[in-house]
Amino acid sequence: MAAAQYIGVDIGGTSTRAARFSGDNHIPEMKTKIPTQASKGVEAVLQRIEMAIREVAGDQLQQIAGVGMALPGPLDPHTGVLINAPNLPGWENLPLQRMTAERIGRPVFIGNDANLAALGEWKFGAGRGHDDVLYLTVSTGIGGGVIAGGRMLVGARGMAAEVGHILAIPDGPLCGCGQRGHLEAVASGTAIARLARAKLKAGDGSDSKIWELASGDLESVTAAVVGAAAVAGDEFAQRLIVEAGTFIGRTLASLLHAFNPSIVIFGGGVSMLGDVILDPVRSAVRQNAMSDAYWRSCPIVLAALGDDAGLVGAGALAMEETSAHRQPVGPS
Ligand SMILES: [Zn+2]
Repeated sequence: MAAAQYIGVDIGGTSTRAARFSGDNHIPEMKTKIPTQASKGVEAVLQRIEMAIREVAGDQLQQIAGVGMALPGPLDPHTGVLINAPNLPGWENLPLQRMTAERIGRPVFIGNDANLAALGEWKFGAGRGHDDVLYLTVSTGIGGGVIAGGRMLVGARGMAAEVGHILAIPDGPLCGCGQRGHLEAVASGTAIARLARAKLKAGDGSDSKIWELASGDLESVTAAVVGAAAVAGDEFAQRLIVEAGTFIGRTLASLLHAFNPSIVIFGGGVSMLGDVILDPVRSAVRQNAMSDAYWRSCPIVLAALGDDAGLVGAGALAMEETSAHRQPVGPS
């Protein structure tokens, strides 16, 4: 008998990607990427999601065991309702699981994109073989996922592991969520860029390589520009990255106390700077952990699946959910 087939869909503010997976392989057999066009409204986006699913399913839609969907923003995976999505205007309290299942006639499951990236890295990436995994993604925002005792932690209403919204500085800078001083507001790519622009505007770093990389235009200073300058040895840029890494490392020490993982995986564009940011993360962990037992045998590593983590995780969600309710299919 042919291995079961699953579809993963990763819905972002800009583009939506879908892929078909077979059995326990994370290499997609079919893959597509389309613009989400969120501004056209919910119905138009749902139509496009359906199109993407049908495209990767080909003539095998009836053989698809399940479809997993990774979405930004808080959602309830138990009820299949998206609570809201910051990058998708008008998407509020949407029973997305039911709406999509009705369109395609296959079982559908939804999950938070950072949670599903954690699931993907655990099942098929850097976290393979571990039962306790902490995953953090540092890009425009900061998100994460927790695997505890071989299960993904979702929480009572499915909103657990929002590691970017842990308090870092009381009454600190405004966070995207509306509160102040959260980790995301002081250490995300957005925060690094904002801080760099403010310092440069105030006259700091007048000889920084950032000016050259941004062609002298303050508005062109992004986290990627700061990161490139830091990697090239620019001290002003390095200080900004070290500061962000230190905030992340302090929070991570608390997360190690709470979850005691055997591996910590960093994904997202800012993390891909590698040791420039991960070394300050590691030293802040060492300075703040209550015992070296928390970090001595807990490597802090880079994600292995890159941009595909959410997509692979969405496929893994469909696989987990459809196999959880029946006997495992063994070799026959
Ligand atoms: Zn926040």
